[in-house]
Parts: sequence; structure tokens; C-alpha cells
Amino acid sequence: MTETLKCISPVDGRVYAERALMPLDEARAAVARARAAQPAWAARPIAERAEIVRRAVALIGEANDEIVPELAWQMGRPVRYGGEFRGFQERAHYMADIAADALADIRIEDSAAFSRYIRRVPHGLVLVVAPWNYPYMTAINTVAPALIAGNAVMLKHASQTPLVGERIICALRDAGVPDDVAQNVFLSHDTTSALIASGAFQFVNFTGSVGGGKAIERAAAGTFTGLGLELGGKDPGYVMEDADLDAAADGLMDGAMFNSGQCCCGIERIYVHASVYEPFVEKCVEIVSKARLGNPLDPETTMGPMAQVRFADLVRAQTDEAIAAGARPLIDRALFPNDGGAYLMPQILVDVDHSMRVMREESFGPVVGIMPVKDDAEAIAMMNDSEFGLTASLWTRDADRAARVGDAIETGTVFMNRCDYLDPALCWTGCKNTGRGAGLSVLGYHALTRPKSYHLKKS
Ligand code: NAP
Repeated sequence: MTETLKCISPVDGRVYAERALMPLDEARAAVARARAAQPAWAARPIAERAEIVRRAVALIGEANDEIVPELAWQMGRPVRYGGEFRGFQERAHYMADIAADALADIRIEDSAAFSRYIRRVPHGLVLVVAPWNYPYMTAINTVAPALIAGNAVMLKHASQTPLVGERIICALRDAGVPDDVAQNVFLSHDTTSALIASGAFQFVNFTGSVGGGKAIERAAAGTFTGLGLELGGKDPGYVMEDADLDAAADGLMDGAMFNSGQCCCGIERIYVHASVYEPFVEKCVEIVSKARLGNPLDPETTMGPMAQVRFADLVRAQTDEAIAAGARPLIDRALFPNDGGAYLMPQILVDVDHSMRVMREESFGPVVGIMPVKDDAEAIAMMNDSEFGLTASLWTRDADRAARVGDAIETGTVFMNRCDYLDPALCWTGCKNTGRGAGLSVLGYHALTRPKSYHLKKS
């Protein structure tokens, strides 16, 4: 019997999509076709590959009206936000724009005696494993530059968002990528691991949980497969005493609650200078109390369900445990009578400390803990007291101070007066259990290619 994956919609708990999983022998054949097709793709000029990717992006844009409700059904994001096309396009276009420079030969010598240069060559076949929380944007981060750099790509999207992988690959093919060069595959974890362990891919980019990242690293052990691992986070915000408090509360509550808190770089804990702690917390409560939890297909809804009931249950458990240990919830439950199942009300917790799971473990949901701190040194110590390091968001009018504090934080990105945003010109990366690697930017191209040196002596 054919094994299938089922996308259970968080909107109503019903099966929204079901797809056959690819058996291992078929997956191996697909890998062989991709590897055979890749050299001809790599032989095309960079500008041509970049243009094809741009065309595919435009095709996704044309389908956006269908995609937006489809996303709501698959993972629960409210339709009022209009999907992910803006960020999807921004990232793909940026990577297309910089491709020629980023992939240009590094010329060391061009003389009568020698020609010496370093060339960036594609790895070959790249596996992209993508998550459901921003399913278009997280996938395109790697799919676009990998193809533009001349690799073939296999996309294994999350079981929660199976239609996204189909749409992206279909658009790429319609735009002119040969069928075997870009393939969407529905794979079980075991099949994925077996392929990686057999050395099927020259590079794997995995975006997802720490547990998933470890499984990929184990599967790749001994194969020398290149890995990019973009994993979980527990991103902090720090509000200094000179911050614009309205902007800080707006920005940080958006960072904590948007997408029901299911953002890899969502704000999960906030430290506030004691002198502005109370007014800051008051502003946050006012903002979050206005959230409208409900059916994501309703344009009035600002907060949809979490993608799965078990994700909401994890956040409820973390919150209840914290409250039992002395934390105070500030958002009135009576404002959210529809809380239940995957539909989780937002919550702000004060009187929290780092002995509580909600301040240490990734919540990936609409809850945030806020603590007062007395100075930068205490804020830095608290921010670094974490197993993760993806982003940190500093709120101040003093850019020098932000840079100084930023230097002391173990993190992938330092933000000042903003949060929860990927700038495609900067390297998307993390440290500690957030993983390793480099996405987007010129460094993203370095990760998706290997250096090859030419040392040509002219006789
Ligand atoms: P997940 O369970 O790890 O799944 C992510 C993707 O990995 C899915 O496609 C999933 O496939 C696949 N996967 C998981 N374990 C696997 C395994 N052993 N073998 C092969 N494939 C495997 O993560 P999630 O819960 O969907 O996503 C949320 C997590 O992703 C959070 O921790 C979040 O912080 C992180 N994230 C990080 C970033 C970043 O840039 N650092 C960005 C977005 C999300 P199935 O769906 O088929 O299980």
C-alpha cells in the first residue's frame, strides 16, 4: 500500500491535502535524473538562470490570490496579511541581482607567465528541506540562489504545507527550469535520511527544529555532505532607557505575536531597563489585548490558529507551568473566549525568571515573558543565557551603544529598533543550537558553491 502524508488543516482539523510519499527506489531514481541533468544547467550563463528564476517568481505572484487562502488552510495565517509574495520576491530578486558579482572568478594573476584564479562552482545536487511557518520565504532563500548558482534542486517541503513545494517547482518549470533540475519530492524522514546517508546530495540545507537538524547531521555523518542548518531560536529583545517606547512596544509585540508567534526570529523574551519597565509593559498589554483570534479566512482576524494542536498545547503547558511557579499573565482570558485546540490566545507574562521553561525553551507561539534589568551588563548576561542564538533586537536611540551591546551578544543578527525581518543583503545565520551556515547575501552563494582553483602556467 502506498504511504501518504496528510496535511491536517488547523482551521477545522480536517484533511486539507494528501499526497503519496515517494518510495526510496523512486527517490533514488529521481536523484540520478537530477544529477545527470545538472551539468547542462550549470553550463548555461548565470544571467539566463537568474532570468528564469525571476520569471518563476512572477508566476508565483500571478497566483497569489489563490495562494493566500491556501496558506490559511494549510498553516493558519490570516488572509488579511496577503501571503508572503513581497518577501519571496524581494529575496529572490536580490539574489538574482547580485549573482554575477557574487559568483565571479576571484582573479589573482593574469600575466604573461600565469593565469591564477578561484572559481565558484556549483555543488551538484542540493536538497532543500523547508518548514511550514513561512513556507514560501524559507524555501526560496535556498532554492533561488542554488539554481542560479547552477545546482539542481530537490525540494522536500513540510508535510503541513505540501502545496507550497508543488507550486514553487511548478512555477520554476513553467519558467524554463528543466524538469529534472528542479524537483518537488514528498519524502518520509527515513527516506530523506537514507538518501543523505548514501551521499545522494552534495549539499543539504535544512530549516527547522533542533531535533530535525540533529537527525540530518547524523544522516550525513561520514559522507562529507555540506550542510546548512537553520534551526530554532529564543530571540530576545532589550529595551534601553532612552528607547522610543511606543515604537519598541509596537515592534516587539508584532515580533512576538505575528503569525501566532511561529517565526524563527520571533521575539520570545524581553528585557527592559527598570526605569521604563512599567510604561513599556502597559503599552504591550494594550496592543496585544486588541488581537482578534479566529478563523484565518475571515479578513477581520489578526491571529489565526497555530499550525497544529500539539504546538498550542506545548505553549499552554509552558505558560501554565510558569504561572504555577509565580509568573503573572497580563492578558485577560475573557477577551479570548474562543481559545481552545489549535486556536491559542496571546499572552504576556511578567514576574518570570530563567528557571521557567517559557524563558529558556523555544515556545514558537504567541507568548512572551518580560523582565526588568538594571543595566546593559545584566541585559547582556540574560540575553546570552540561552542555548540559542539567531537574532537579538535592541531598542535605543544610541547606535554606538547598540553596536557595543551587540558585540557582546552571542547571536546571528543584531537588530536596532526593528526585529523579525530577514534582509537578503545580510547573511542569515545563527550560532549555538540555532545551527550553522549562511543563507542569503553574497555568503549564501559561497555556501551553495565550492571554490575551485586554477593555476595555469603559460609556457
Ligand atoms: P521540523 O519538524 O524540524 O520540520 C521542518 C522540516 O524538516 C519539515 O520539512 C520536516 O518534514 C523536516 N524534517 C523534520 N525532521 C526531519 C527528519 N528527521 N528527516 C527529514 N526531514 C525532517 O520543524 P517545524 O516544527 O516544522 O518548524 C519549526 C522549527 O523551525 C522551529 O524550531 C523554528 O525555529 C525553526 N525555523 C528556523 C528558521 C531559521 O531560519 N533558523 C526558519 C524557520 C523555522 P515533515 O514536515 O514531513 O515532518
